[in-house]
Amino acid sequence: MTESPTPTPPPDPGAIAAGLLRIKARIAAACERAGRDPAAVTLVAVSKTHPAEAVRAALEAGQAVFGENRVQEAAAKFPALRPGHPALRLHIIGGLQTNKARDAVRVADTIESLDRPKLAAALAEAIAREGRAPGLLVQVNTGAEPQKSGIARNEATAFLRACREEHGLTVSGAMCIPPEGEDPTPHFRWLADFARDQGLGILSMGMSGDFEAAIAHGATQVRVGSAIFGARPSPA
Ligand SMILES: *Cc1c(COP(=O)(O)O)cnc(C)c1O
Repeated sequence: MTESPTPTPPPDPGAIAAGLLRIKARIAAACERAGRDPAAVTLVAVSKTHPAEAVRAALEAGQAVFGENRVQEAAAKFPALRPGHPALRLHIIGGLQTNKARDAVRVADTIESLDRPKLAAALAEAIAREGRAPGLLVQVNTGAEPQKSGIARNEATAFLRACREEHGLTVSGAMCIPPEGEDPTPHFRWLADFARDQGLGILSMGMSGDFEAAIAHGATQVRVGSAIFGARPSPA
């Protein structure tokens, strides 16, 4: 990064609480349109780049589930927030480096980034060593984007089998990030079919711009950041 950082304004607890209410109302409306129970859709509040005080404000407003895409940042923010908030759940989302697997297993309740055999092996080893088993979701690169993490569509079934049979991992869901600027619905549909065929109950799809479409296609978890916490200071 060569740009000089823009100063981040302190988090506004009222705005965060209002943002959460607004998103929850939109989730409920999307569930109603889809004939689904709103209780079947978990809101993952993506707090990456936002300070611990922003997370605390969301916790005080009743939000329990959070998403972070950098293990170091998550490890710096979350452990201190856990006492007094037993319902807090942290999801690691987006690409995960193999050398961060152990830290991720220590800090996360769910890791949504399982996407290659090396990472599967590292996570299996970390889980055994730490005696702690976060929930695991397979990330699929449904748009075959070279810069994006995720297993290729045509390798996803064999990879999932290897995770289960060779690495002994319990995988409970699937996750995708459709390409920006494209209609996300074919991607949501593909992932929903994959999850159903593979007996994966958790479907993590939908962000600030497309979570209602994701709910229409069966998402059980939506990952919403900027629509709750405001714009991020820098791309992340
Ligand atoms: C940042 C991020 C989100 C949230 O994005 P918004 O557009 O701010 O809602 C969701 N999923 C992943 C993997 C992310 O990295």
